[in-house]
Amino acid sequence: MKDLEIKEQLLCPYCNTRFTQYFKINSLLYNPPKIATCCVESGGCDKNFVVYFDVTININTSKIEAEENRE
Ligand SMILES: [Zn+2]
Repeated sequence: MKDLEIKEQLLCPYCNTRFTQYFKINSLLYNPPKIATCCVESGGCDKNFVVYFDVTININTSKIEAEENRE
């Protein structure tokens, strides 16, 4: 299974600074928590915190034209 690279906006739990970070996640497997560091360049505090991943998969269905016309 190929990893997905996602771009997420994080909120530092210490100083409430928002910054963007890229993560590689696996869309089908359990993704263990990762450590992120608050972004100093965005005005943050440089402290480490834990990021939890909650991956949701949506399933939709659609018709196949040949099936719809099948007797
Ligand atoms: Zn911070």
